[in-house]
Amino acid sequence: MYEGAGQVGGRCRSFIDSKLGIEIDNGNHIILSANSNFLKMCNLIGSENTLNFLGSTYNFFDCKNKKTWNVKIGENKFPLWIFNKNSRIPETRLIDYISIFKLLSCNKKMTVQEVIGEKNNLYKNFWEPLTLGILNTQCKEASAQLLKNVVKKTFLKGGKYSGIFQPKKSWDKTLINPMLNFLREKKIIPKYNSLLQKITI
Ligand SMILES: Cc1cc2nc3c(=O)[nH]c(=O)nc-3n(C[C@H](O)[C@H](O)[C@H](O)COP(=O)(O)OP(=O)(O)OC[C@H]3O[C@@H](n4cnc5c(N)ncnc54)[C@H](O)[C@@H]3O)c2cc1C
Repeated sequence: MYEGAGQVGGRCRSFIDSKLGIEIDNGNHIILSANSNFLKMCNLIGSENTLNFLGSTYNFFDCKNKKTWNVKIGENKFPLWIFNKNSRIPETRLIDYISIFKLLSCNKKMTVQEVIGEKNNLYKNFWEPLTLGILNTQCKEASAQLLKNVVKKTFLKGGKYSGIFQPKKSWDKTLINPMLNFLREKKIIPKYNSLLQKITI
């Protein structure tokens, strides 16, 4: 096993920050329950007990205005909560939720901003944080097609597919160390700082 970096884990790993003196997980990773491959892998390496299941309520916090709100994804596939004024995202009207259908019929080349439009009241309080969280990209550059794929496989399939998993302690304890142990049992030792450049068959 070749690993180009000095450690395994790639973008999803933990490290000790020498200034803060604490273990930090790289990126604020959450895994959605629709990701059955991830759950199968945790099962294979025996780390499923190191996960916390946080349900399918998404909490938002607006740092600027110190406002909080949440979106509860119920068992229904259709987001019925949009018809209840009290369950809707602050400052949004029923008509703003048409943006869900706009996203579903997006053109392959369009960005999230082009599809939803900045003037939509859901943009700032829902689509923008969601796009950043899922695609790690600003709406004006993020592919609407990629976001659509995620929304279709998760939120639009209901709470069963939109549940949130996070590690109880850190990704090192959930993924990296159990996987290294699993590989060690199979006598596979990673070769660090070794960039694979060619495969000859
Ligand atoms: C800030 C941030 C937050 C994120 N949040 C989430 C989230 O909440 N939920 C979620 O599901 N995803 C999230 N992601 C995305 C997630 O981290 C990645 O999709 C995932 O880690 C990809 O895993 P990977 O193993 O395919 O690739 P990587 O993690 O990129 O790992 C690739 C590995 O291969 C090595 N490598 C590359 N080329 C070679 C070579 N030629 N030879 C040898 N080794 C090589 C690299 O050194 C690296 O270790 C986030 C990402 C970031 C950066």
